[in-house]
Amino acid sequence: MGLFEDMGRKVEKFKQSATDNADAPTHHCLDCEEEFFTDYDACPECDGDHVVLID
Ligand SMILES: [Zn+2]
Repeated sequence: MGLFEDMGRKVEKFKQSATDNADAPTHHCLDCEEEFFTDYDACPECDGDHVVLID
């Protein structure tokens, strides 16, 4: 019952924040300072593992 309602709400929230950030990078690499629209585990540019959310 409540479980599916919660999941629906999370999806809506995700869609909304994805739209808000559509034209600005959301993450950047602390090693090479490259900016990304995706949260990578490892940086595609320098292969570093310090891709973090931009404040
Ligand atoms: Zn990098």
